[in-house]
Amino acid sequence: MRIVLRIVAILLLSSLISIGLIQINNGNNNNVFKNDSDKSQSLDSDNESDSKEEKYDSYSSIFSIDNSVEGDNYNNLSDAEEDNTDSTDNYDDFTLHKTVFKQFLIKDKDSLYVKWKKIQGAEGYIIYKNDKKLKKVKKKGKNYCTVSKLKYNKTYKISVVAYKGTLKSEKTSKNVKFKLRTKVKKGIRYYYNLNKKKIKNLNGFIDTKGPYTIKVNLTRSVTTIYMNGSKGELIPIKSFLCSPGTYTSPGTWNLGDKYRFRQLLYNSNSQWACRIHDKILFHTTPYLSYGTNKTLDVKEYNKLGTRASHGCIRLRCVDMKWIYDKCDRTTKVVIYESKKAGPFGKPKLKKLPAWHDWDPTDPTAKKYCKKKKCH
Ligand SMILES: [Zn+2]
Repeated sequence: MRIVLRIVAILLLSSLISIGLIQINNGNNNNVFKNDSDKSQSLDSDNESDSKEEKYDSYSSIFSIDNSVEGDNYNNLSDAEEDNTDSTDNYDDFTLHKTVFKQFLIKDKDSLYVKWKKIQGAEGYIIYKNDKKLKKVKKKGKNYCTVSKLKYNKTYKISVVAYKGTLKSEKTSKNVKFKLRTKVKKGIRYYYNLNKKKIKNLNGFIDTKGPYTIKVNLTRSVTTIYMNGSKGELIPIKSFLCSPGTYTSPGTWNLGDKYRFRQLLYNSNSQWACRIHDKILFHTTPYLSYGTNKTLDVKEYNKLGTRASHGCIRLRCVDMKWIYDKCDRTTKVVIYESKKAGPFGKPKLKKLPAWHDWDPTDPTAKKYCKKKKCH
């Protein structure tokens, strides 16, 4: 009885192997484009296209992108291309390989930067958005483009085809959700681009109307503006270089009165200013005269990023005006000490030459820079 079972098993196994071999042969035939086999066979090469998709997916998985990929690329080939790939006359013709995407980056609120791998021999590339031909990238060696007029939060199918004359490669497609990724870590919400890099400027991406919390890091002389999130988290939206004083006290207050111009201690003056508490204010770096955007104390401006004030928090004009314009009495101000600059690190200061007696970031003083062609 056992012997009979064994014989049956062996027969079954060998018939399975022979079926398998037939399948493998079919697959091989499909790989050869110049093969004079019938068209339906090369159009039906599921095995091959699957393995290609697999490679492509693992390559692209470094991006946090929706992975649903178009299945059968052969459907997109036109009749002319099918003739080309199947014809025995085209032995000397080379095949344009299918490209792979290298990068998707959200550039601004309505455009996406797309980069793909260069294909040898390609004259250029055709870009598609949701299967509609969008543009040709023809410049030699250029393997990137910008896809615009996108809506935030929507998913788009982006495709690229390499071409040379009438010869075209297979289509490479990816569904990309046009949305920054977000995560809350230790009560702070961060936004990331599709390459997982932190976004430092959320303008246009999310509604940044406030209310806000301002945090002043004394140790590193950095001020960070946070928007209060709906779930109690803080969303960092901007960071400013500042100059606190050596003896500025840590604590938490609510923003107070505002002043367009303000006289300060030691015969110095400020443009925009907002009270934090008692005699401690946010204000611009000092000016020698009251009520002017000239007479900036350049030496003091160049100390931004260090503890240089008598207790107040000094800021560049553009940053100070932002607080003056956007923040009200509901704005919480937290002054603290920490070696960690903040979620966006410490901004860099472009120092001014001695003659530049106005703040280059002052919107009311731009005309001076324009005249001098300095900024
Ligand atoms: Zn200038």
